[in-house]
Amino acid sequence: MEKEFIQTSRTVSPLPHSPLQARLQGRVILPGDPAYDPSRQSWNLSADPRPAMIVMAQNTADVAEAARYAGQAHLELAVQSTGHGVYRSAEGSLLIVTSRMKTIRIDREARTAWIGAGAKWGEVLAKTQAVGLAPLLGSSPDVGVVGYTLGGGLGWLGRKYGLAADSVLRFELVTANGQLVYASADENSDLFWGLRGGGGSLGIVTGMEIRLYPVTTVYGGTLFYPVQAAGEVFARYRDWIVAAPDELTSSIVLMNFPPIPLVPENLRGQSFVMVRGCWCGPIEQGRALVQPWRAWRTPLIDEFKEMPFSQVGAISDEPVDPLPVFTTGAWMNALPDAAAEPLIRHCVQGPSPVLFAEVRHAGGAISRVPPHAAAFGNREAPLLLLLLGLTPTPEAREALVRQTQSIKEQLRPHLTGGVYLNFLEGEEARQRIRDGYAPEAYERLVQLKRSYDPHHRLQSGFALK
Ligand SMILES: Cc1cc2nc3c(=O)[nH]c(=O)nc-3n(C[C@H](O)[C@H](O)[C@H](O)COP(=O)(O)OP(=O)(O)OC[C@H]3O[C@@H](n4cnc5c(N)ncnc54)[C@H](O)[C@@H]3O)c2cc1C
Repeated sequence: MEKEFIQTSRTVSPLPHSPLQARLQGRVILPGDPAYDPSRQSWNLSADPRPAMIVMAQNTADVAEAARYAGQAHLELAVQSTGHGVYRSAEGSLLIVTSRMKTIRIDREARTAWIGAGAKWGEVLAKTQAVGLAPLLGSSPDVGVVGYTLGGGLGWLGRKYGLAADSVLRFELVTANGQLVYASADENSDLFWGLRGGGGSLGIVTGMEIRLYPVTTVYGGTLFYPVQAAGEVFARYRDWIVAAPDELTSSIVLMNFPPIPLVPENLRGQSFVMVRGCWCGPIEQGRALVQPWRAWRTPLIDEFKEMPFSQVGAISDEPVDPLPVFTTGAWMNALPDAAAEPLIRHCVQGPSPVLFAEVRHAGGAISRVPPHAAAFGNREAPLLLLLLGLTPTPEAREALVRQTQSIKEQLRPHLTGGVYLNFLEGEEARQRIRDGYAPEAYERLVQLKRSYDPHHRLQSGFALK
């Protein structure tokens, strides 16, 4: 690679870089550059790829230049915004980092927003709430809008307004060979179908237009109960959600708070069973819905309250600082005692590598979208299991993978056989890819991959083969 001089804002530094740099507004970063390690870092520290080259893209033109360059240099392409989702390592590839592409333009009248590929949900939430509107973010405002949405996107307004993917009106993307393409119901509608649930395999999304909703205040939070009551809490939760209107999206969680300073002192090292939820209807009705829990047994901690939707991240209060984690999950068809029992036994009765086991209530508006309307699969499944643990060492990861496999094996009669690919990672995401979709939808996605990326240059998304 030739040596050139890069003009930065402060200094002229002799950095080795590619001819690509001259064509970009953003930056090319190569191994050895002091910016290399921070730029390749993911939120999930279990991913530690060493890309051949990193492009910190500033805009769509940079993404297109980088994609074309990757083709000429015979490099695989990978894309990252925040590094929350790890489907395939960017090892040896040209990694396009979109985190500087943070355009957020809101059309208040039309209740839509144009979101750049590098925006995080928290940034979109703040701007949309300022004009009385809400996006369909998930439990963590730190997650990237585009990666989350391409995989489906199930959040606290999910049962009322559906998946984030169902609220996309238009995508702008750059194909693996560097072409700019738009996809909507009227333009490249096949691609539009595939991008809504098909993951980031079909192209590099540079921006998208999404629908927004008139939600400013919700009744939400978490009730903490002692783990000794977990069996009863699961049984009550099951009955609670049967009658729940779509305005309530909720989950039940088994949580082992690790004994680390990051965790508040009153929770550190302790285990709980927790009921979480977000009610987006009239506040009084939300309060009445939670009342039976309070009447049954006073929670150890009761965080349910009227809150501005801008604070919705507080319901799950997920960590923002990078962590080494492993996640897995599966769609469930029911939550009988026979399913709750192994979950409780293996997650909170005695030491467990599982930090967090959550069953989310899906259905509602998610299941009312016709199954063929978008690539996203398993819409009809009512419940979604997520298991997560910390993986500071390879041994810890192995123990966790073994434990979660065993849990899923024991839960098998209560699983639909489908998976939510946003909640899987690495090897498992590749092996279970077909279980993310209806069989004909998967075949259609593979055809789309052949048309839009025939040489399989873009490798970081769901593994469509
Ligand atoms: C703490 C935490 C909370 C979560 N909560 C939820 C939740 O409530 N609901 C839910 O549905 N999911 C949730 N997820 C899963 C999350 O949606 C996925 O991990 C998602 O892939 C993260 O997207 P990202 O852009 O932040 O991550 P990144 O790691 O930057 O991207 C993940 C993948 O998305 C694709 N991608 C990203 N940007 C682009 C682009 N511009 N063009 C093409 N492909 C792209 C790529 O394949 C990339 O490998 C959560 C994950 C974590 C770690």
